[in-house]
Amino acid sequence: MNILVLGGAGYIGSHTAKELIKAGHNTIIADSLVTGYKNAIPEQAKFYKGDLRDFDFLDNLFSSEKIDAVIHFAAFSLVGESVTDPLKYYDNNLCGTKVLLDAMVKHGIDKIVFSSTAATYGEPENIPILESDKTCPTNPYGETKLAMEKMFKWTAAAHGMRYVSLRYFNACGADESGEIGEAHNPESHLIPLILQVPNGKREYISIFGTDYDTPDGTCIRDYIHVTDLAQAHILAVEYLAKGGESDIFNLGNGVGYSVREVIETAREVTGHPIPAVEMSRRAGDPARLVASSEKARSILGWKPVHDSLSEIIASAWKWHKNHPNGYNEK
Ligand code: NAD
Ligand code: UDP
Repeated sequence: MNILVLGGAGYIGSHTAKELIKAGHNTIIADSLVTGYKNAIPEQAKFYKGDLRDFDFLDNLFSSEKIDAVIHFAAFSLVGESVTDPLKYYDNNLCGTKVLLDAMVKHGIDKIVFSSTAATYGEPENIPILESDKTCPTNPYGETKLAMEKMFKWTAAAHGMRYVSLRYFNACGADESGEIGEAHNPESHLIPLILQVPNGKREYISIFGTDYDTPDGTCIRDYIHVTDLAQAHILAVEYLAKGGESDIFNLGNGVGYSVREVIETAREVTGHPIPAVEMSRRAGDPARLVASSEKARSILGWKPVHDSLSEIIASAWKWHKNHPNGYNEK
């Protein structure tokens, strides 16, 4: 298939583009590089630099390339920033997606897979979380993703389009080659921040909250390897190509690890003592977020294979150790 990867120069998009190419799909990437990196783009992919919110850019792209399906990663995703600057998030995530849908409708492109998030649930009522559970985001970032899902639902119904929304839990790890990996600036995610300590870029890791109602008092999350996420996107596109109905799927391993367990595993993987300092809670963090991914397993046939935390952290470490400054080189 000819697949457009929007946001393909970013962390999850670049890993997905690499797996799409391996699976034999003709992969076209569009990205403004606002948070992505040209060096993350596989050389076999054709690259168009431009902004999702620019209708003419997408209109020209869809006129030049015959696109069968779109995989849409392009968004802002810093929870804290979304609280202080919500309109930046509504503008890029929701208004940007509206422009994309306008262009897709105009060009008759009827299949899209897009990045949603566990943040659509907010404080969960049940663990593991099912797709049918209540969605009540606790921040504007999660709200924009939930609003995107609803915009897809109504637009798909009106224009004969089908979509798959993938609600990722905690994306982490890096491609086995060690050539691409996670590179957010600023970085806010736990595993890359921990690995900054053995890399000499940070003296200690902060533990945000030790008084949660969990066995060791720290938050529990479901860490899912980025290559397993990438495979889910390929399965989702293929599912739509075979005529599958629009749907929403959680993507996680179904196993929760506490912040202390993640730090301890990183100590074992890196052989570094990684000092940790206990701090107060970070606003808006639910105590536990663990996915039920049974639906993705049964309907898409998805099976995460990198499900050990030490393997996930080892793959991240391989990337960060050799690229301490990410794509801005050594
Ligand atoms: P990222 O910032 O590395 O990638 C996003 C890419 O989109 C970047 O290359 C950026 O340049 C591009 N982009 C952003 N706005 C654009 C625009 N207006 N026009 C064109 N390109 C634009 O982020 P990521 O971690 O790879 O996340 C990808 C997607 O997954 C996002 O939608 C994010 O909300 C979602 N998500 C991520 C996680 C996670 O743990 N990283 C978890 C849940 C959901
Ligand atoms: N966390 C932490 N110290 C950090 C960064 C994150 O204790 O320096 C915690 C955070 O409070 C959450 C977990 O690690 O409980 C995962 O956070 P991350 O930002 O990676 O992902 P989130 O679950 O917020 O999407």
